[in-house]
Amino acid sequence: MPTKAELKDRAFAEIDRRADELVRLSQQILANPEPGFREFKTAALVGEKFGEMGVPFRSGLGMTGLRGEIIGGSDGPTMAIMGELDSLIVNQHPHANGETGAAHACGHHCQIAMMLGSTMALMQEGVLPHLSGRIVSMAVPAEEYIEIEYRDGLRRDGKIEFLGGKPEFIRLGEFDDVHLAMMMHTTSTPIEKQLATTGTNNGTVAKKIQFVGKGAHAGGSPHLGINALNAATLAMTAIHFNRETFVDTDTVRVHPIITKGGEAVSAVPADVRMETFVRGKTLDAIMDANRKVDRALRAGAMAVGATVNIQTIPGYLPMIQNSAMQEIFRANAGTLVGSDNVGWNPHRTGSTDMGDVSAIMPVLHPYVGGATGIGHGADYVIQDYQLAVITGAKAMTATVIDLMADGAEEANRVVANHRADMTSREYVNFMRTLAAEESHTEG
Ligand SMILES: [Zn+2]
Ligand SMILES: [Zn+2]
Repeated sequence: MPTKAELKDRAFAEIDRRADELVRLSQQILANPEPGFREFKTAALVGEKFGEMGVPFRSGLGMTGLRGEIIGGSDGPTMAIMGELDSLIVNQHPHANGETGAAHACGHHCQIAMMLGSTMALMQEGVLPHLSGRIVSMAVPAEEYIEIEYRDGLRRDGKIEFLGGKPEFIRLGEFDDVHLAMMMHTTSTPIEKQLATTGTNNGTVAKKIQFVGKGAHAGGSPHLGINALNAATLAMTAIHFNRETFVDTDTVRVHPIITKGGEAVSAVPADVRMETFVRGKTLDAIMDANRKVDRALRAGAMAVGATVNIQTIPGYLPMIQNSAMQEIFRANAGTLVGSDNVGWNPHRTGSTDMGDVSAIMPVLHPYVGGATGIGHGADYVIQDYQLAVITGAKAMTATVIDLMADGAEEANRVVANHRADMTSREYVNFMRTLAAEESHTEG
């Protein structure tokens, strides 16, 4: 019976042997960026790779997702390892698609390579028979919560219900037979160093807002119009005046954009559209801020006699990670890069749909360095693929081995000691309660 250290050595040797292939794969995805629920080429590439590797898989899950599966030598729990398929849209990014503006400004192209590299390493003859249970390799769509208009259209057409990939996977039952899950994300944040664990992430709801006024000649008869842009401007000011009521430790973030500001400069704007997120560290904080935002939106409409249509769309839940899985990861990270190069970030104010998975099972969402620039910015690029893909894949693989070798003793312990907030069915029902639409007119 090989020791865990021997299994890791065998797995790492395979990752090293295929390092060039894995880096090339991530760069191929970088060169073909596709935003969420449009990742058809990226999904085809993952399917091709699963096929070459001999991994049985299903595709077309949540439109573009894939789920492969490899089975250990004896019974045990099921662990998911994940990579995200989608890009952002950042027109000025050096690797942006000239037509769509799609760009990998969050490093997801490395995640797919890490997930596949880890699968390659774990499925070897010298490793897999010594693991207990199953490894489910998931390529998940649409983590970046963008293009709300497009996705809401997909929702109305019945192609999806939730606007993120992992919530869709949960709704479709793809996590129903999974007991614990992990993925790796790239980082450029200095305190996260080369490999890092993080504590919590903000959750969020999304909002689509329309102010409806009345068009009129902007020069000749503005007194006959109702200016929807003025309503939106007042609403945003009212949101800002509420910021002093947000509690610092709740890390609330409200960041509206105007997606349509009027029709023609010579007419009083009659149709103004906004989108915003309302983020916070806890669900209570999100709901409290969301009530204040709704109040501010109504106030803007009320002041000028416009109508406001507010649509609240479930976003992502706050992420809380499993501490036992974090400890296992940190030990492996220390071995791989030296403990001085292992970082810790207690809270991130962005949001991820791994938060939704964390509501239903133990999860681990560590970070790997190698990136420079600002996440989601035009300057966010991977400089060190050896770290971001190869070391990342090894850290993930070693963590899976620690959990699933020796009769999956550690994984069983993690699962037995974990109290999930809700079941996947409860999650789906809860998310449905977050959806709301209202129309408010001041007579
Ligand atoms: Zn991102
Ligand atoms: Zn990301």
